[in-house]
Amino acid sequence: MAEMNLCLTEYVYKTWFQSTKAENPTESSLEIVCPSKLALDNLQKYRSLIQESVNKIAQGNYELLFKVGKVESNAARGDTKSAMNPPLFTSLQKSANKTTKLNTRESGLTPHFNFESFVTGSNNQLAYSVAWAVAQSPGKQYNPLFIYSGVGLGKTHIMQAIGNKIIQDKPNLKVVYTTSEQFTNELVEAIQSGTRNNKYTSNKFRKKFREADVLLIDDIQFIVGRESTQEEIFHTFNALHLAGKQIVLTSDRPPQDFVDLEERITSRFGSGITVDIQKPDLEMRTAILRKRRDENQDSISNEVIGFIAEKVDTNIRELEGAYLQVLLEARAKQENITVDFTAETLGQRVPDKRTIVNPNAIMNAVCKYFSISKTDIKGRRRTKEIVVPRQIAMYLLKDMTGTPLIAIGELLGGRDHTTVMHGADKIGQKIREEPRVEQDVRNIKQLIFSM
Ligand code: ADP
Ligand code: MG
Repeated sequence: MAEMNLCLTEYVYKTWFQSTKAENPTESSLEIVCPSKLALDNLQKYRSLIQESVNKIAQGNYELLFKVGKVESNAARGDTKSAMNPPLFTSLQKSANKTTKLNTRESGLTPHFNFESFVTGSNNQLAYSVAWAVAQSPGKQYNPLFIYSGVGLGKTHIMQAIGNKIIQDKPNLKVVYTTSEQFTNELVEAIQSGTRNNKYTSNKFRKKFREADVLLIDDIQFIVGRESTQEEIFHTFNALHLAGKQIVLTSDRPPQDFVDLEERITSRFGSGITVDIQKPDLEMRTAILRKRRDENQDSISNEVIGFIAEKVDTNIRELEGAYLQVLLEARAKQENITVDFTAETLGQRVPDKRTIVNPNAIMNAVCKYFSISKTDIKGRRRTKEIVVPRQIAMYLLKDMTGTPLIAIGELLGGRDHTTVMHGADKIGQKIREEPRVEQDVRNIKQLIFSM
């Protein structure tokens, strides 16, 4: 708009541009409504200039359709502020904003996970830089981008930041965010309602994922043990990659650690760039909480923030959780947030659960709950009544103690660490899919703490 103004004499600008507007934007065309045939003829002369500016503002490639129609003039309403912002451009900008909102909803992204709210430090600098580069030129340089880290360290956040940035800057690109579980669920649905012609997946499912310009799949580790999901991801991956579309994957481990996946799949995952995010140091944890405090204008001192940051060193999700807990408790009890108050509040949860849960307590609780013996759980029998408890033990030992996988394997009768990993994954998956298992695990946890 400023550009156009520069290129045109004020007379031409005021006479012809100020009284036009844009209407009925579709994906590929836009109507330019002029108040008279005379205006229309004159505007046509500037077609390529308008075209260029329109494409720039609306971030697309629109065919312009000129027509005569009723246009309310800003100048006529005495609206001086927008007098230099003719209806053509305000309506264009509005539709660009609208597209962004619509795209965000359709993409499955959460707007709040963006680059601005992502604090960087030495633990995530590389991931941040690469993510930023991908958002600038998707599909060009780093493809696929594979991000891995432990839980709560910002994978989902940085991945969604890429998507949100692309939607904002390039609204004509189709961004699709999904978790591997959601992908699986949609795939299962598609298979169930699959048409005769298409044996495995309905067109709608394929269309959604294969027409993406940017595909973001979060927590890819959950495809382990799901054959049809792996197959579909493999083909989706190839189709998109071949077409130069951007793919971003996150996971709790690097590609080469997927021992239970086929080589052809893991080698695809690692064929672009792989970056990790490490745990944040004290300085970074402090910076994250301060930023949050300043943004929300919470009344909480640097001293208290320092205390929380020092206490909670596991991950950012827990750090934020502890911060929130202190704020909420103080509000509920109408108390000032002192270091003492904070220590007392966090005292109930912070003493790291990893140090208090003894691996033996887990073994005892699992055996007691399922009424099986230690010999059974450590033994070789592979009936369902034994296998599930055994895998639950793997899951809990991995989740609740700092015990290395190899040591867990030892505890369970000399099993391989990959077996432990696989068993734990299996239960993680079942917890989400089978309410029964979820309930069992919850009960066992209670049992652990009550024994
Ligand atoms: P992951 O997907 O690795 O489990 P998330 O992306 O869900 O972790 O992050 C957990 C929480 O921590 C989210 O609320 C996220 O916004 C926040 N978070 C993570 N990393 C950062 C960061 N670098 N700066 C600010 N907030 C962060
Ligand atoms: Mg996540």
